[in-house]
Amino acid sequence: MGCCGKIAKGAAGVTKAVTHIDRPVANVIEARRMLCRVCEHAVPCPAVPARKCFCDRCDCILRAKTAVASEACPAGKWAAHQHPPPVTTDSVMSVTTALEGNPAP
Ligand code: SF4
Repeated sequence: MGCCGKIAKGAAGVTKAVTHIDRPVANVIEARRMLCRVCEHAVPCPAVPARKCFCDRCDCILRAKTAVASEACPAGKWAAHQHPPPVTTDSVMSVTTALEGNPAP
């Protein structure tokens, strides 16, 4: 993704975080932030170096990124804290089955 794509994606992510659209449950946000705090890709905040503000893998603002459910860690470290869980063939089949009231073939 080029710079402009990152900026557009970043703006959309910050908007979602600020408006609480696509917000995961609180314990998911905190679990993600705990992982980011100790990650080798986390970049210290310029004003408070003891805190981590950015991810050098995706150039994201961590406070916003961790608060958007559909965001994912580019290093795969949030796999256990993806909310909602990723869509799989099995999850689609179970929803389809429930909607139709018929068991899957
Ligand atoms: S989003 Fe992933 S790679 Fe980036 S700082 Fe957080 S844990 Fe590390």
